Amino acid sequence: MAGSLKTEAIVLRSIRFGEADRVLHLYTPQRGRLSAIAKGVRRAKSRFGGRLEPYFRLQLVLYEGRSELLTVTAAETVHPHAQLRQDARALDGASRACDAVARLFADGEPHEGVFHLLANHLALLDAEPARATRGHALAFRLKLLLAAGFAPQLAACAGCGDTEHVVGFSGAAGGVVCPACEASAFPLGEEAHGFLVTALGRPLSAAPDASPRALAQAERAILETLEHHAHVRLRPVSAT
Ligand SMILES: [Zn+2]
Repeated sequence: MAGSLKTEAIVLRSIRFGEADRVLHLYTPQRGRLSAIAKGVRRAKSRFGGRLEPYFRLQLVLYEGRSELLTVTAAETVHPHAQLRQDARALDGASRACDAVARLFADGEPHEGVFHLLANHLALLDAEPARATRGHALAFRLKLLLAAGFAPQLAACAGCGDTEHVVGFSGAAGGVVCPACEASAFPLGEEAHGFLVTALGRPLSAAPDASPRALAQAERAILETLEHHAHVRLRPVSAT
């Protein structure tokens, strides 16, 4: 299956390798996560310039041989996201988003929607770095759960289907729960519940905000869902 692969990609991580090379962790629309080596990229006269850095959206030509590691043979910038690099919070948000995608999906497990979601998230942070709020980051992560097939059940108790009295959230049950089913649940207030429902329903560009208390509950619901269903423990969405 040796040959060339032309693909768009977002650089999730870029790791120094050997004297002048870098190993890139990429997310692509059709192949999902993959790793590629860029040879000589750290030399001053590299033809790749500085574009093989995290958060760049690129058009790549990769050589695929027998190794799991592909080789970058050409790279053009689609979007450098230069603005978000000037803003510490936006940069931190981009880093946590790329880290979540890298950890949640294995190599060769493509979700085209994840590529577009991440591209959209980075473009929004770049256009308006002040968007790098906890609410926005949680909305991204919730949509990531949906793309991965782990969206929590929010409309009715995940245990018995009761729609009237949901008072808690249980990662093990897979969503909101009523008082009768609340073993292993933690309290989820109305505001946090509303935030989760709205964040899932709206486009990322219109992500809702909520009080710190509600956001903390929403974040716990997302983290526990990931732990129970994807067996992944992610960093918090923000430093604060
Ligand atoms: Zn119940």
